[in-house]
Amino acid sequence: MKPNIIVIYTDDLGYGDVGCYGATKVKTPNIDRLAKQGRMFTDAHSPSAVCTPSRYGLLTGQFGWRKKIWGPLPYDKPLLISTEQKTLPGLLKQHGYATACVGKWHLGFGREGLTDWNKKLAPGPLELGFDYYYGIPLVNSHAPFVYVENHHVVGLNPEDPFVLRQPNPAKPPNTKLPRSPVQEFPEKDGEGRWSGATRAHLLYRDRMVGTHLTEKSVAWLRQQAGKKEPFFLYFATPHIHHPFTPHPRFVGTSECGRYGDFIHELDWMVGEVLKTLDELKVADNTLVIFTSDNGGMLNEGGKDAWKAGHRLNGDLLGFKFGAWEGGHRVPFIVRWPGRIEPGSRSDQLIGSIDLMASFAAMLGHRLKPQEAPDSVDVLEALTDKPEQPIREHLVLAPFWEKNLALRSGKWVYIGAQGSGGFGGNTGGPGALAWAGQQSSDVTSDGKIRGDAPKQQLYDLEADPSQAKNVIKEHPEKAQELRQLLERLKQRSEPR
Ligand code: CA
Repeated sequence: MKPNIIVIYTDDLGYGDVGCYGATKVKTPNIDRLAKQGRMFTDAHSPSAVCTPSRYGLLTGQFGWRKKIWGPLPYDKPLLISTEQKTLPGLLKQHGYATACVGKWHLGFGREGLTDWNKKLAPGPLELGFDYYYGIPLVNSHAPFVYVENHHVVGLNPEDPFVLRQPNPAKPPNTKLPRSPVQEFPEKDGEGRWSGATRAHLLYRDRMVGTHLTEKSVAWLRQQAGKKEPFFLYFATPHIHHPFTPHPRFVGTSECGRYGDFIHELDWMVGEVLKTLDELKVADNTLVIFTSDNGGMLNEGGKDAWKAGHRLNGDLLGFKFGAWEGGHRVPFIVRWPGRIEPGSRSDQLIGSIDLMASFAAMLGHRLKPQEAPDSVDVLEALTDKPEQPIREHLVLAPFWEKNLALRSGKWVYIGAQGSGGFGGNTGGPGALAWAGQQSSDVTSDGKIRGDAPKQQLYDLEADPSQAKNVIKEHPEKAQELRQLLERLKQRSEPR
C-alpha cells in the first residue's frame, strides 16, 4: 500500500527554532511529538539558503543555481519550472496520488512577461502536477497580498481590478523583459490599514494567514478521506518568514517576542494537521516530513528573539542567505509509523533536494538521468540505519555564486570570503559581530580580516561552529574539494 505523504515546508525556520532541536524560549509540543514518533536528522540541508531556489530544488530535484536561480523571485515574474520538467508532484500524480499545494508558492506564474493578476494565472502549480492549489502566490512580506486558488486571485472582482500603470521610462522594471504595464499594489499605512485595496486584498488579513491556510489544508485532507488513491499534501507555511503576524491568541505566548509567537502558531498548525490524520485514521499510513527552506534570519524580529536568549540556528555559524551552516542546515523530521523507529536520530548527510529521488525509489520508479539530476535516493537513511554515509558530498548554495560551497564528509569548502549572503549586520560578517559569533576570518567589529584567506575550509567534526578557517593547514583538501565542486558545477554525477 502506497503511503500518503505530507511535506511541511516551513519558511526561514532555523536549526535552533524548535524544542526538539534545543530551543527553550519557545514551546513546540506538536513538532516535538513528530520527532518523538519519528526520526530527527541533525545534518539535513535545504537546497539553498534562500526561499525561491530552495523551493525549486525541492520540487524538481535539481539545484536552482543550475538555472541561475540564486535569489528570491520578484512578484511579477513567470513560472520558473518548465511544464516539460519532471516534478515531485508530477511523479506522485503519475503513481496515482491526489496532490495539493497549500501555502507559499514563490516560483512564479505564467509563461512570459509580467504577471497580470487580473487574468488566469497559468501555468503554475496545477501545470506541474498539483491537482489543487491554494495559497500565497509570493511571500507574506511582499505584494500582492492576496490568496490564489488554482488559477485565479481569490475574490477578484472585474469591476474592481488590479490597477495597471505604465512603468517609469527612466527606470525599466527589468530590461530583459518586454516593456508592459506593471501592477500597482495598495499600500498599508502605519496602522496596518490598506489604502487603495481591492476586495481581493481585503480578504487577505495578516493575522489570519496561519489559521486560514491550516483550514484549507485540513479541508483538503478531509476531502481525501475514504478515497482509494493515496494523497500528497505540500504544506508550504509562510511561517516563520517576517513579518511575524501570529493570530492574537498566540501573541505574548513565547519568551522571545513575535518571532517566537509565530513559531507557536506554526506548531499549532502542525498539530492541526496531525490531529486531522488521527481523526481520519490515516496517520499509520502517512509519511510526514517536516523541514525548512533555509536557516533563520537575523532580521528585526530575529534580533529581538536573540536578545531574549533564543538562538535561531542553535550553535551554527551564520544566517539565512549564507553558505555557513546556519544558512542551510535545518530541522528535518520524518515520521512514518511502522517504518521508522520512534524517537530515533540520524547524523546522515541529506538534503530536501533528495526527496524526489527517495520517493521515486519508494514507488519503484526509475528516474531518467536528466530527471531530478541532483536528487539522491536517501530512503535508507529515512527508514533504516545504514552504517556508511549515503551521500559522499552535497553542494550548498548561498545567495552569491562565488560563495557556492561543497560539503564532503566532515569538510566544508566555501569558494570565497564571507557568508555569500546578505551584507551589513543581517547575514554576513557584521551579523557575526552583532551576535558575538566567533570566526577566525572576521574582526570583532564585523569586517573580513585583511589577512583572511580568499577561500574557506572547515572541519565540522572538530569545529561544528565553524570558528576556524583551516584552509592554510589543509591546502590539498581544499584543492580536492575545489576541483570536485568545479566538476559538479559542470554536471551532476550519474545516479
Ligand atoms: Ca525562506
